[in-house]
Amino acid sequence: MSTATATPLTVADRCDRCGAQAYVRVTLPVGELLFCAHHSREHADAYASVAVEIQDETDRLHEEHGAR
Ligand SMILES: [Zn+2]
Repeated sequence: MSTATATPLTVADRCDRCGAQAYVRVTLPVGELLFCAHHSREHADAYASVAVEIQDETDRLHEEHGAR
């Protein structure tokens, strides 16, 4: 499994906690979680020890919203 071939997150991917656009996909042995940048940081400690893979696209957040 390589992050280079992972499916990019889209506007259709929503944070499981607040419904905002997701920028982080956390793959777990039993499924996956999607988080916005805010909640990915808030829950990082909780999923870091159990995640199979963490796809972090928060860099795109700055590219797409950096002009604000
Ligand atoms: Zn969120």
